Amino acid sequence: MICHSAMTAFPHRCRVAPLSDLTTWRIGGPCAILTPLNRDELRGMMRWVADTGTPWSMIGRGSNLLAPSNGWDGVVINLQGEFRAFGVRGETVTAGGGVPLPALAGAACSMGLAGMVFAVGIPGTVGGAVFMNAGAYGASMMDIVRGVQVIYPGGETRHLSSGECGFNYRTSSFQTRPGAVCSVILELAPGDRGELRERARETLGKRRASFPIKVPNAGSVFRRPKDGPPPGMLLEECGMKGFAVGGARFSPVHANFIENTGNACSEDILTLVRTAKRRVLERTGILLHEEIRVLGGET
Ligand SMILES: Cc1cc2nc3c(=O)[nH]c(=O)nc-3n(C[C@H](O)[C@H](O)[C@H](O)COP(=O)(O)OP(=O)(O)OC[C@H]3O[C@@H](n4cnc5c(N)ncnc54)[C@H](O)[C@@H]3O)c2cc1C
Repeated sequence: MICHSAMTAFPHRCRVAPLSDLTTWRIGGPCAILTPLNRDELRGMMRWVADTGTPWSMIGRGSNLLAPSNGWDGVVINLQGEFRAFGVRGETVTAGGGVPLPALAGAACSMGLAGMVFAVGIPGTVGGAVFMNAGAYGASMMDIVRGVQVIYPGGETRHLSSGECGFNYRTSSFQTRPGAVCSVILELAPGDRGELRERARETLGKRRASFPIKVPNAGSVFRRPKDGPPPGMLLEECGMKGFAVGGARFSPVHANFIENTGNACSEDILTLVRTAKRRVLERTGILLHEEIRVLGGET
């Protein structure tokens, strides 16, 4: 069992816990969770996964992640300690990969730094947001990222410019060459605090009105098709709004969200995803692609 060797290798930085504790869907069985506090510890872990061939994945807030209900025989790495701090110099913000994105966006607005209003309601970490190139209302991380520090399996540390991150719609190069995004440099602009706070409030109000907030979910399930209608509209037209399997259902509030209504398992979610893709393809000829990530595999 991988969790035993991880516990032996990192006795003070490894625990076994249900992934449901770490994901906003509140789904996921037991897994070894490594919690590095600094770069030396993270580098040690990245060397260990490479040397031992251990399956690994980063996990931030788990707000875009489906974890298997029967657990995962790999390690997830959850950045803590120095990775949860940020600093500001002028209009430049340096943030650890584990910093909660909404907190950082809120702080930027309060400091009169413009460029992060779009992020106030995106419940991920800075590292997860870079990995996903998270965005909303026409803006995304690629608009503000100037550089990224990443540690790859084996321990290689690299500083990438924004141009080297392969950003595109909900995509980055970290999706094809996984590494640990440990810190990010953001270039913001001067702005008016009062106005930024007001825009942040408006953004949160708009999101509360149009997205399911109280029921566990993982945000948009499918990506927006290129040149096609939004997935929520396609899913609604195909009768998926409110469609349920086991403890999971397409949200009656917004059809591109799947809610865990109480006791959903990962297979319920996957069945909904597959059913929706098939129906939308049959009825519209459009093949939807997942925005959510599945720990350890494909849908
Ligand atoms: C209610 C709700 C609303 C949402 N709204 C939006 C929205 O408006 N726009 C949007 O884009 N997304 C949205 N999301 C989805 C999600 O919040 C974003 O994709 C977010 O960026 C994921 O960050 P995370 O830290 O939770 O990543 P996780 O879900 O933990 O992980 C996602 C992927 O990123 C990788 N990853 C995580 N941290 C790191 C790291 N430090 N280094 C390298 N890889 C890493 C993981 O391995 C995984 O593959 C929403 C989700 C919810 C629940």
